[in-house]
Amino acid sequence: MIPPSPLPESEPLERFAVEVFSELNENTIARRAREVNVLLRMSMLAGLEMELASTLNLICDLAGEIVSFLRGTVYFWDEDAGAMHLRVTRNMPDPDEESYTRANVLNYWVAKLGRPLLLTRHCQREADVLLHAMNAASVLVVPLFVRNRVAGSMQLFGERTDSFSREDAQLLWILSLVAESMLARDYSNETLLRFAFTDFLTGLKTRGYFEQQLDLELARAERRGTPLAVLMIDIDHFKRLNDTHGHTVGDMVLRDLAAILTRDLREVDTAARYGGEEFILLLPETSLQGAKLVAQRLRYSVEQANFFTGARTEAGAEIEHITISIGVALFPDEARFKRDLLEASDAALYEAKARGRNCVVLYSEIHTQKAS
Ligand code: GH3
Ligand code: MG
Ligand code: MG
Repeated sequence: MIPPSPLPESEPLERFAVEVFSELNENTIARRAREVNVLLRMSMLAGLEMELASTLNLICDLAGEIVSFLRGTVYFWDEDAGAMHLRVTRNMPDPDEESYTRANVLNYWVAKLGRPLLLTRHCQREADVLLHAMNAASVLVVPLFVRNRVAGSMQLFGERTDSFSREDAQLLWILSLVAESMLARDYSNETLLRFAFTDFLTGLKTRGYFEQQLDLELARAERRGTPLAVLMIDIDHFKRLNDTHGHTVGDMVLRDLAAILTRDLREVDTAARYGGEEFILLLPETSLQGAKLVAQRLRYSVEQANFFTGARTEAGAEIEHITISIGVALFPDEARFKRDLLEASDAALYEAKARGRNCVVLYSEIHTQKAS
């Protein structure tokens, strides 16, 4: 491991910015015919419709044909999170390590300068921390643009302090310029897609998204032999609340309920608004016992929660209480196919309503009852 440098003062950033031009001189072209060919390939691919993730991977692969690097990362702006997100990794010691997934300082610098940066060990204290974590001696940072704004960065780490030259920086800069139109299109597609799959009232996923996700998760569960739980949730007597307080208050309650439903979800879980006041949760790798626990916890949280129905006055805020009923079905025990799984959770929900509401019913309970 390379120890972090003990530099007392860090040098100004501008010293590490690489002067670049969007044209290469003839000598460079002659010497670098192979690399220039990579740029041409990138420009030929620019007409392809691709997903943002694939384009970022492609840029990283093509960069690998221009320079050889020890490790690589590509960050790109995430509109939802309002932050740079790590999208591509190459040869990382531990890709899940939190220090890499959090936006790093190189993202800020490259966004500030709008030019490639070439940093070596013992030049910049903050950069040294990252170089040390990567066990690298140098890093070449290339900005990625969308409509002339830095929207991401590719960070290539080298084993030696002379792993990258200024010409390398220039070639990768041109690669980034060539990729810009492709990135701009992919990025707006991604943003549009996300918009289309988000329920405007609650911020949860839409039913359309849920259906696609269910297909994916079913295939994955089948492949891995893991269970998958579906929780169908419906608000009890919601019509009454609307009739008493009006639809606007009803909408507020729906929003607050969505927040409760998603509060303790894992990253892999999906929560969607299935219909007007119906919600659905998809919990991968969850057993019947686990799903029952989650459902009971949610039912209880909702029962205990205060839902605001009016302005806060001096006498205190006006509040209401609501309850929910939940039907639970499990793949593969109770249903093996998508439609059957949804029908099973719906049947369990129906039974929960019949049993007086504010309760959780597992499809396996009604199933065995009927069978016996
Ligand atoms: P149950 O316990 O049987 O589920 O009774 P319920 O009144 O909740 O069920 P029902 O299906 O009869 O009525 C659902 C009501 O949900 C009808 C409608 O007023 C309300 N609702 C559906 N979508 C929305 C919405 O987007 N906003 C608001 N405010 N209310 C909605
Ligand atoms: Mg309903
Ligand atoms: Mg209802």
